Amino acid sequence: MSTTPSSPRSWLPSAQDSPFGVHNLPYGVFTAADQPGRRRVGVRVGDFVLDAGAAARAAGAPSVLLDADSLNPLMAAGRSVWTQVRADLTTWLTDESFREALAPALLPVGEVELHLPFEVADYVDFYASEHHATNLGTIFRPGSEPLTPNWKHLPIGYHGRAGTVVVSGTPVVRPQGQRKAPADAAPTFGPSRRLDIEAEVGFVVGTPSQLGRPVALDDFEQHVFGVCLLNDWSARDIQAWEYVPLGPFLGKSFATSVSPWIVPLDALRHARVAPPRRDVEPLAYLDDRGGEPWGLDLAMEVRLNGHLVSRPPFATMYWTAQQQLAHMTVNGASLRTGDLFASGTVSGPEPDTRGALIELTWNGEEPVKLPDGTTRTFLEDGDEVVITATAPGPDGTVVGFGEVAGRVG
Ligand code: CA
Repeated sequence: MSTTPSSPRSWLPSAQDSPFGVHNLPYGVFTAADQPGRRRVGVRVGDFVLDAGAAARAAGAPSVLLDADSLNPLMAAGRSVWTQVRADLTTWLTDESFREALAPALLPVGEVELHLPFEVADYVDFYASEHHATNLGTIFRPGSEPLTPNWKHLPIGYHGRAGTVVVSGTPVVRPQGQRKAPADAAPTFGPSRRLDIEAEVGFVVGTPSQLGRPVALDDFEQHVFGVCLLNDWSARDIQAWEYVPLGPFLGKSFATSVSPWIVPLDALRHARVAPPRRDVEPLAYLDDRGGEPWGLDLAMEVRLNGHLVSRPPFATMYWTAQQQLAHMTVNGASLRTGDLFASGTVSGPEPDTRGALIELTWNGEEPVKLPDGTTRTFLEDGDEVVITATAPGPDGTVVGFGEVAGRVG
């Protein structure tokens, strides 16, 4: 896409040449020291958070959607409002005449606390990386075909637990449960010994849909508000014992972390790419060849205790978010404001692009070496995992997603 005009320049010095320049403007929810109990909608710009409600009032614009304690009212308002608010924010942050009025609404990002930015309605997690699905199939079902017969006909997913979606920085308590290694005669109970990560991308629904009315591929942009990073913490020993035949349950539901900034879909126009060539023709409701598909060129990085262990390439995902949204509503299931659906673990073809430890260590057989001389198969107490990502923006700019971080303990 190159139809978007050149990005205007902000009067805010730290927004210039920043992954959080005016070409990005992700939304979040914060509290500040002056009013610690009051959650406010914020917009990340450069090294600052713009108090969006205060900015609207200072600019003489309607502020009701921005004077909220979550993004839900704005998300529910729909695409035409999202476009207008984004245009207003861009004007305020680039037109010198707003500089003085807006200055009091800018708070240094290091001085605010960031919160879960939206009320999560339903949560669905997909399984859209062919490399990840092939690796997991090989590890979990040795001797069988790695991909199940349905895999290239539909985006496989499961309904997860919305109430345990937490914001980046929230500690992750090691889950307990039943574990049974193949050689064991019976299961035992205790803390997971195979606690893992899954580096994923999350898509946040704004506009609801009507029960009984599927959301077509062409309506994707009307419903999806923005994109975040997501870590689907996974207890592999609990998962391996419980998941046959109905899929993930307690091995996943104890915690799912999301990044605090929701990058608007409009900020990702220049990141759109064609997904990999599909070798099975999709049914009509999933066939995205008639328009510009929604592959996204996000470069992700996964760090374990500060050490880079993987660079998952999101552009390699077989199924796109557009197809996932069409599939999860094709039976008539309706969308609610705050629905979150995640891509599935992002793993590329190379060993150092895999998005989970079970793949990076090949089921624990090839431990990851850390600079302190220790090794890891799965996570130990005190370990911290940080996932970051960037995408191409207009005119050579970079769109930053920030990070989703979590420490086991
Ligand atoms: Ca997952």
